[in-house]
Formats: sequence, C-alpha cells, structure tokens
Amino acid sequence: MASGDGTAPAPLPLVQSFASTLPAGPGADPLAGRDDAVAWLRAAGLLPDGAGLTGSEHAALLRLRAAIRDTLATHAGAATDPGTAARLTKALADGRLVITVEPGGTIRLASAARAVYPSLVATLAVAIADAAAAGTWPHLKLCTAPHCGQAFYGTTAGGRHCPAHAA
Ligand SMILES: [Zn+2]
Repeated sequence: MASGDGTAPAPLPLVQSFASTLPAGPGADPLAGRDDAVAWLRAAGLLPDGAGLTGSEHAALLRLRAAIRDTLATHAGAATDPGTAARLTKALADGRLVITVEPGGTIRLASAARAVYPSLVATLAVAIADAAAAGTWPHLKLCTAPHCGQAFYGTTAGGRHCPAHAA
C-alpha cells in the first residue's frame, strides 16, 4: 500500500491531483479562471465534453479545493481548526451522496444529482469516502515544506514532506 513516489493508491490520485492544482509559487493556477478550470476538469475526466460551470459553481469548486487542502494539511500535522471539517462537509454536500442497494445486495455510494457540478463533487466525495473506508485517506497529506504545498501520499507516521522534500 505504501508507495515511495508519493502517489496515492486508487481512488485517491484524482483527489491528489485536484488538491495539487494550487501552485505554491508564482506559477499559474489552472483552476483560477473559469474557462481554465473547465479545461482542467475535462482533462481530468471530471466534466463531460461540452459541459461548463456557472460562476457560483466555479466559486464552490475553489472552496471545495481549499477545504480539501486544509484537511490534507491537518493530516500532515497542522493544527486542527474546528471549521475545517465543517467546510469540507459543506463543500461535499453538493455531491448529494446516497446509498444504492443493487439487486444482488451490493451497497454503493452514488449521487442523487444529475447536474454536472454536483456529479463532479460526487466523484470526489465517493473517492474520499472509499479511501476513508480503506484506511488510506489519512495518508493523503499536504507537504509542509516552504513553497511546496503539493498533496502527497505518505504512510510514514508523522511524515510531513513530499518525496521531493523528505530529508
Ligand atoms: Zn514538497
């Protein structure tokens, strides 16, 4: 389960790449502009071709990213802010997750939403929930090295740095 290059096991790489879009330095943020964000989300498979985001959905997307990043920072040992969990709960609520029971009895998390943005949030929310059930979610962390801030996967207890910044 441990992976030396900092890449998370499935289904977390999608969450990892989404969280890592915020550049620590002067680089461009691929999600900052709405058109750029749509292009990034399509390339990541989170938005179907031809679909877009409204202004308020784009703002919600940035809040979702911030909430995920704050949570990954707590996984790396940052002080827990009581608002962090509440913000992530609120941001993921847009995914409208429900439990579905299949004829064979299999239970799955799914989204009750049909619109594009809630479906995108649901994809990330299901990945987070599945990772939490598998025990891998707490190992997805935000690198605490100055000017990094990339999400990485690390199973070392107390590990706070991505492979590029590990001592
Ligand atoms: Zn780093």
